[in-house]
Amino acid sequence: MPIDSNFPKNHIAIEKFKDPLSDNFHLVWGPGRLAEAASDQKVKAAYAENGEEIKPMGIHGTFVAVDWDSCIADGVCLLSCPVKVFEWYKNPGETGRNDRKDYTDKASPVKEADCIWCMACVEVCPTKAIKVDQAIMDIHEKEIARFS
Ligand code: SF4
Repeated sequence: MPIDSNFPKNHIAIEKFKDPLSDNFHLVWGPGRLAEAASDQKVKAAYAENGEEIKPMGIHGTFVAVDWDSCIADGVCLLSCPVKVFEWYKNPGETGRNDRKDYTDKASPVKEADCIWCMACVEVCPTKAIKVDQAIMDIHEKEIARFS
C-alpha cells in the first residue's frame, strides 16, 4: 500500500513537526493506517524488541511527503537525495542510509524546502512511501498558517 496518490486529498494536517536540531518544520497529516511497516519482519522485530506497539503515524511533509506507515526504514531515500532533505527521525542530524536508530525509525523530510524535484527518492523507495509534488506547495503554505 504505497502513499495515497491523491494525497493530500482525504487527509487533514494534524500537527506541526519541529526538527529538534534546526528551525525547520513540516506538517504531519492524518489519518494514518497500518501498512507496510506493520507487516515488515525487520520493523516488527524492532518494535517487539523495544516493547513498542505499531500504531498508525500518518504522513510527514506536504510537497515532500513520506508515509510513515509505509516507511520501513530502508534509508535509500536518504542515500539518494542530492540535497539531504531527509534525516532519521530517531537519530536527528544523521543522513546516512544506515544511520537509523533501529528499524522503528523513519525518514523525516526536515529540509523539505530544499527539494530540487529530482524525484530520486520517489523512484528508489522500496515501498513507494514518498510523494513529491511541487504543485501542492501552496497547500503547505495555507495549512501551515493554521499552526502559526
Ligand atoms: S525529489 Fe530529489 S531533492 Fe526532492 S526530496 Fe526527493 S531526492 Fe531529495
